[in-house]
Amino acid sequence: MMEQKEILGILKESGALLDGHFELRSGLHSDRYFQCANVLRYPRLAAKLCDELVEIMKSGKNQCKVDGVISPAMGGIIVGHEIARSLGVKHIFAEKQDGELVMHRFQIMKGEKYIVAEDVITRGGRVLETIDIVEEAGAKVEAVAVLVDRSGGKARFTYPTYSLLQIEPVTYEPAKCPLCAKGVKFVHPGS
Ligand SMILES: [Zn+2]
Repeated sequence: MMEQKEILGILKESGALLDGHFELRSGLHSDRYFQCANVLRYPRLAAKLCDELVEIMKSGKNQCKVDGVISPAMGGIIVGHEIARSLGVKHIFAEKQDGELVMHRFQIMKGEKYIVAEDVITRGGRVLETIDIVEEAGAKVEAVAVLVDRSGGKARFTYPTYSLLQIEPVTYEPAKCPLCAKGVKFVHPGS
């Protein structure tokens, strides 16, 4: 099993986790910026992290005896693919259409068992939508697996949920930002 320190190291070195002073898209300020895609752009790191997540699921007494892994596009696709590779099962994904996640490329069979996989959860809305898709097809959700849980324990699903790392985002209104108070210049992440 990897230590949290090692996982954090991978996220920092790959540029997924940045320390500094950021103005987020929401207009809030933060001393940290997280962009999961930056670690997933390296296939070997994606494989390493997802293998570890599978280890965590198995040590959590989850047999992972499933027919497939399902994830919401786009963010969940690489994680879902890598977990499926690790388990030796298929991976399917749901796509956004008119603001709603739908399954239009693959068929879910009645009675099949799935793991729902996602890269990052903040409120967990996309995971919930994916769970609905599985249940509406008459299939079963065995577990939820996410690389990073940023929900601070707020995203709860009715299925066992596993994450590699939990990081709670700390954000400030610009007027109350301690970094602004110190006169540190902020940057817009991703640009
Ligand atoms: Zn600030």
